[in-house]
Amino acid sequence: MILNDKSKIWLFDYDLTLYGEEERHVLDSLDHRISIFVKNTVGVSLEKASEIRKQYWADYGTTLAGLHAEYQVDPNDFFDFIHLNEGLIFPKKAPQKRILLESIKGKKFVFTNARRDWSDAGLSSMDIADCFDGIVDLKFLDWQGKPSVYAYDKMESFIQKAGLKNTDDSRAQIILLEDSIPNLRAAHERGWTTILVHPTQQKPDWVDFHLDHLLSLEFLLEDTHV
Ligand SMILES: [Mg+2]
Repeated sequence: MILNDKSKIWLFDYDLTLYGEEERHVLDSLDHRISIFVKNTVGVSLEKASEIRKQYWADYGTTLAGLHAEYQVDPNDFFDFIHLNEGLIFPKKAPQKRILLESIKGKKFVFTNARRDWSDAGLSSMDIADCFDGIVDLKFLDWQGKPSVYAYDKMESFIQKAGLKNTDDSRAQIILLEDSIPNLRAAHERGWTTILVHPTQQKPDWVDFHLDHLLSLEFLLEDTHV
């Protein structure tokens, strides 16, 4: 079985996968907006808010999940605030990524734990928005993001409804590219093919492939028969 054939369904995480660690300032600019939201909601200093943001991320999987559990924050209010284009930075234009994405023969979707306006703006900034067949975002996932079972169930039913193959024995046709090990683990446990995209993270044994950067996918596509 060849990795780059039409039957594959490619799912790309957005943050720190479609743009890499070298553009972490993009994510930092969003995290700053999140810290301001936490500051306003909890009524603490920006420094303390930044600590709470990280703690919620560790305890609940996302800062939003923590805010929702502790302060009943409405997800749309959260995203309306943090995606306000004040001080946000977007990834730079990426012609090499465009060439790479255009060389992939299967369907391609973005699978993100953010609301789609964030990734829409980033993909446009990189000039790769039209390379994808769609975006599955946190709102579509009813605010239950990766690595919840719900998110992967919903993704599979989306794939089925789109008329793409998804019988139990073809789950390996679904390929997830991610920088997050927990998100990859959940995908692996249901039989998807997993690609870790991370410059320094150690590859767990069960991960199928490891790329230091998205652009290295080019070499995997050329060489790999799975
Ligand atoms: Mg990510």
